[in-house]
Amino acid sequence: MLDTDFFRRWMAATAAAVDREADRLTELDAAIGDADHGSNMRRGFAAVNDVLGKEAPRTPGTVLTLAGRHLISTVGGASGPLYGTLLRRTGKALGDATEVTPDQLADALGAGVAAVTQLGGAQAGDKTMLDALLPAVEVLGTSFEAARDAALAGALGTVPLRARKGRASYLGERSIGHQDPGAASSALLVGALAEAAGP
Ligand code: ADP
Ligand code: MG
Ligand code: MG
Repeated sequence: MLDTDFFRRWMAATAAAVDREADRLTELDAAIGDADHGSNMRRGFAAVNDVLGKEAPRTPGTVLTLAGRHLISTVGGASGPLYGTLLRRTGKALGDATEVTPDQLADALGAGVAAVTQLGGAQAGDKTMLDALLPAVEVLGTSFEAARDAALAGALGTVPLRARKGRASYLGERSIGHQDPGAASSALLVGALAEAAGP
């Protein structure tokens, strides 16, 4: 079972990974965007860390809804509302439970990802964060490691794609040959699940 503390560790591990990889995320965004994705994510997850330290939410669902709210209010740009919606909707789907199974988390994250597709209008293959999230959700019921590997493969798989949503889509053909920054950060978010679960 995954308790509230697991979800706090998930957010903390994401914040640490984003902090570690911020320069790489910004470099990816420099190639096909406006060079702010690393700083956006770092600022957002630092705020998440802060608020989780102060407010000590009592359920997995409230950890994620609180985190999502703070991403929306601190990140801005495209990724703030999209990541905020992902976590809020996932948290809402977890309801009031004090512990959840990995299958329940997989279902809830599926609902969160569906909300992101609805908000942003992107589909698989459009070269966005969804190209990491969708394959991860599909195998999340198997193991966190499988989800991490699927997200990473999905992120790397955005390199040959042409962007059809977001800022990178303005580049048209010239977006080909670069990894999508949001897919790269989504792979960090999914990879942090395995870290939170421990060895
Ligand atoms: P901005 O483009 O406003 O500077 P960021 O650089 O923080 O925002 O985030 C860019 C990332 O957001 C992209 O790499 C992509 O993964 C994601 N993104 C942008 N638009 C969409 C969308 N409509 N649906 C899903 N993801 C999107
Ligand atoms: Mg950007
Ligand atoms: Mg920007």
